[in-house]
Order: sequence, then C-alpha cells, then structure tokens
Amino acid sequence: MKAVTFQDIGQMRVTDVPEPSLELPSDAIVKVTCCAICGSDLHLYHGDIPMMPGDTCGHEFTGVIVDSGSQVTGLKRGDRVVGTFHTACGACRACRRGEFHLCDSSAVYGYGPIYGNLGGTQAEYARIPMAEVNLRLIPDGLGDEQALFAGDILTTAYGAVKNAGVVKGDTVAVIGCGPVGIMAVQSALACGAARVLAIDLVLQRVQLAVSVGAIGVDSSQTDAVGAVMRLTDGEGVDAVIEAVGGPRTLLLAFELVRPGGRIAAVGITAVQSFEYPLTQALTKDVTFRMGLANIHRDIDEVLQLIASGAINPSIVISHRLALEEAVLGYELFDSRVASKVLLIPQ
Ligand SMILES: [Zn+2]
Ligand SMILES: [Zn+2]
Repeated sequence: MKAVTFQDIGQMRVTDVPEPSLELPSDAIVKVTCCAICGSDLHLYHGDIPMMPGDTCGHEFTGVIVDSGSQVTGLKRGDRVVGTFHTACGACRACRRGEFHLCDSSAVYGYGPIYGNLGGTQAEYARIPMAEVNLRLIPDGLGDEQALFAGDILTTAYGAVKNAGVVKGDTVAVIGCGPVGIMAVQSALACGAARVLAIDLVLQRVQLAVSVGAIGVDSSQTDAVGAVMRLTDGEGVDAVIEAVGGPRTLLLAFELVRPGGRIAAVGITAVQSFEYPLTQALTKDVTFRMGLANIHRDIDEVLQLIASGAINPSIVISHRLALEEAVLGYELFDSRVASKVLLIPQ
C-alpha cells in the first residue's frame, strides 16, 4: 500500500509499505478515507522527535472498517469511523478513572519509538489497537472531513474550553488563531460564551476567527491588553484559552484574565519552563490549567456538536491533496502557505 514515510529530517516520501494486518483480537483494520497533516507532525519533519527512516507518519484520520478481531463486537465491516490520535487501553487505572490521556500503555499513531512505535495513518490502511476504545462511529450525515477533527485538534480545543470552566454568558479570550485557536473560538461559543475575543498577530487569522463569530484583536496593530480591557470595562475576561504555547503568550493570559478568572493553556511548546507570575496569580486568584487533551472523554460530545452544525471545523482546511501529493503538502504546511492540509487516499 501507499504510505507517507519519514526518510530523514525534512524528507517525507510516499512509498510502498506492507499492508497492516490484525495482530490482536481487539484490533481492527481501517481503510483510510481521509487523513491530515497536523502541526505536531512538523516536529517529526524537523527532527525534534525521533523517527526511524521508513516509519509511516500521521495520526489524524477517518476510515472504513475492513477487518476486525474476534473481540471487536461493537464495530463491523463497513462502519465509518474516526480515530483518536492516540490509543488508550481502556483498562488501566487511569483509563478506569476516565483519564484516557494518561493511559499507561498509550501510543500515538505514526509518532516514532518514544510514543509507542505504532504505524501511522497517512496511509491507505491502518491497524487500530483496542479498536472499540479508540474508534468512534461517524454519525450519519456527517462527512469524513468534518469528523476527522474530532479525533485531535477540535477536541483538544474543546477540552481546553471545558477545562477553563467556560459557562453561559462568559467573555472568553483566545490567544492564537491557528487551527486550534479557531476551534477554541467555536467551542467557547458552543459552550455558551457571550463573547469571544480572538487575538493574533496575523490579520488573516484574526479575520478567520471573526468569520466564526469572534471579536477580532489584531495584536500587530493594537495592544492586546489595552484592547481587551476596553472591551471588558477594564476588568479582563472570565476565561483565557492560550493556543500558542510559549512564555510570552502565557504571561499575556495572566494579563487578560479578570480577578477570579481561569486560564487553560493548550499550546504545544518546546520551552521547558516559564516565569510564573506568582504575585499576579495570587492577588488575582487565577486558576491556571494545562495538560494534554482527554480526547476519549470529549469526542462523543464534539461529534454531536459538529453534527448539529454548532461547530464547523473544516473552515480551517486550506488544501485537499491526494495522498501521493503528501510531500507537497508537508512543504506547504511547513512554509505556512497552508493552514491545514487534508490528504485523500485515492
Ligand atoms: Zn494532530
Ligand atoms: Zn489505559
């Protein structure tokens, strides 16, 4: 089968690799109908996370079940499914507590030996371990392109909004209007936020956020703190979703939040630490949360929100390419020409 494989730093290639087969009775084999290049795939591309040459990449996908082991009773051949970007076992202590993101034996598809050495999903077929835990049926009437986002970035953003305790009537600030930020804007509105103030340095990104219902703050032109204070009568926002990752934007979140407010940080960062604003956090009584998304916890709610039309994740898609064009897709995405690239196996 054709698959996107890592060759060397900055070098992906579409190559022929062996088709995956069932290894355990809880496995399923999925024929991939749609997969995507994720911001975190660029860490592999840049060599920040080790991959072996020839390893298959990719962890965002939808597909159709073509084979399943004897223990898979809740899913059958022909079912349309979306997968979570990482696996969980469903049985360890963390999974039994519902903390699937902390599963003892979790693995990320196509993310190298450190993350469980599991085959990637930028391929024609993929093997899904513990299929009943790690796949969800796509609701009738919902397209694969929309459902795909529930397996990773949309549910990541939605989880951050939940972790920030957003309730009806809240004013929320979203820092960073990349794909995750756009999903956070929509998630906050779906959770009842009265206003979402979307902040980014790139006008086009701000405009995209405005198109899904945010009030835009172009921080290349205006001071973000001043703008947010003007819009909140000098108080600050009830909740901040930080979707960039990095010391500067984390500190900005503490500036923007009102006394007693909540911050959820969801941006992926390579920076090991930042200077926590102790006095500000103490005197403002700020709740600060960060952590990996619990996709398995929230994916069903998110699929319903997409199906109902409350969230339209496919608005972030800039390019739809054939799987064979994946090398171009990585180049476009890495150079920021593309905001989100879908790859469609033919
Ligand atoms: Zn991803
Ligand atoms: Zn587990």
